[in-house]
Amino acid sequence: MKHDIVVIGAGIIGICSALHLQRRGFNVTLLDRSAPASETSYGNAGVISRGSIFPEAAPGVHRKLPKIIAQKSREARVHYRYLGQMAPWGRSVLKQARVENFKKNIHALNELVGHCLAEHKTLLSECDGYHYLRENGWLKLFRTAETFESSATEQHYLESCGVAFDRVDASAIRQMESGINDIFTAGLWIKNTASVSSPGKVCDLYAKRFVSEGGTIVRDELKQLEWRHDRWNIVGADASRESHTVVLALGAWTKVVLETLGYQVPMVVERGYHMHYQLSDSAHLNRPVYDVDGGYVMSPMQQGLRVTTGVEWGFESTVPTPVQLQQVKPFVSEAIEISEALDPEPWLGRRPCTPDSLPIIGPATNHENLWLAFGHGHMGFSMGPITGRIVADMIAGDTGVINTDAFRLSRF
Ligand SMILES: Cc1cc2nc3c(=O)[nH]c(=O)nc-3n(C[C@H](O)[C@H](O)[C@H](O)COP(=O)(O)OP(=O)(O)OC[C@H]3O[C@@H](n4cnc5c(N)ncnc54)[C@H](O)[C@@H]3O)c2cc1C
Repeated sequence: MKHDIVVIGAGIIGICSALHLQRRGFNVTLLDRSAPASETSYGNAGVISRGSIFPEAAPGVHRKLPKIIAQKSREARVHYRYLGQMAPWGRSVLKQARVENFKKNIHALNELVGHCLAEHKTLLSECDGYHYLRENGWLKLFRTAETFESSATEQHYLESCGVAFDRVDASAIRQMESGINDIFTAGLWIKNTASVSSPGKVCDLYAKRFVSEGGTIVRDELKQLEWRHDRWNIVGADASRESHTVVLALGAWTKVVLETLGYQVPMVVERGYHMHYQLSDSAHLNRPVYDVDGGYVMSPMQQGLRVTTGVEWGFESTVPTPVQLQQVKPFVSEAIEISEALDPEPWLGRRPCTPDSLPIIGPATNHENLWLAFGHGHMGFSMGPITGRIVADMIAGDTGVINTDAFRLSRF
């Protein structure tokens, strides 16, 4: 047995990191204040996307701002009092949006995203979880010819990065998804993409596998982290524990923990909501669909049709304001026949987002035996298993599957 490691945060990133580290012979404890995957990893759209290689910081991103600030965008919404807080992050986003940075970030994302599905498939087969997986891609659909044309740059980069996709017209869309209404004129069918019918249950399977392979899951809330006599002292609400090595994988909450250790990480939380709807008898959906003009994603889930929203920026303490769910509902109803909403309340998730849309994976810069795995933004469900492998490779000192320089904290 190698030395002991505590992974803090049991979302998809922490679970997969713990599982891979355990397999390298470390003695691993996974610590979370709640049950595994109780937060963002539970309620996402479940897409394991090969085509999501585009950073939010793209050339021309500043042109979206006036509409967002005027609260006229369904895809992004900001609480005004949070604007000041976002300014440094916004400046970094503008820097990352320069063409040379945009291309560099696409390249790094493409490297990472290229491994996501294969890594999930390996874990799913080991956990007897294949029945959750649909390998039929996902559809990005456009209502008008103009909006489809606006995806020309995206299509160019998909092609140059070797991402397989088909352009589909209205009749092809009808054939693929006969259960949706005839309102989309064109779309992109991103292949080599899969989705799951319950991200929460998939995470649960991976967590159970970690335990069955000898790992320990502890329920406690991290209150403080201290470096003491060559070991980490992890002060929880219920107990203190020591560990040789710590991995921070607390998703949206990692930044706050790092601040207590003196790190200022450029990250914001992009909140997103979901609601499940019952489909009417004549409606069905075979795969997730992104209605670009409507500004939402709909995914078939075990619980019903899961509608997820775009981005909302606000303080951690800002009460849930699921305005975007109300805004997109008429667009959902135009696209597919839904009956009643199935959840008593909308669900709220928190995407941890960096200005270059690349996760932070690697060693902390000023502390020994402290490793970071967070900041996976809109793609953390897809990236969980490959991140876990990378974390284990790094800590074990093994040669990794990809070059990870682009993901290190030291880039900021
Ligand atoms: C609406 C929406 C749709 C999305 N759709 C997709 C998609 O289709 N595909 C995709 O790949 N990604 C998607 N994402 C993104 C993805 O869900 C996230 O990137 C991913 O879940 C982040 O995982 P994580 O493990 O880093 O964080 P989380 O899942 O949030 O886990 C963090 C954990 O830290 C724990 N924690 C926090 N503070 C403490 C503390 N003090 N002590 C102990 N534990 C603590 C929490 O309890 C939690 O379990 C979506 C996100 C949203 C919001």
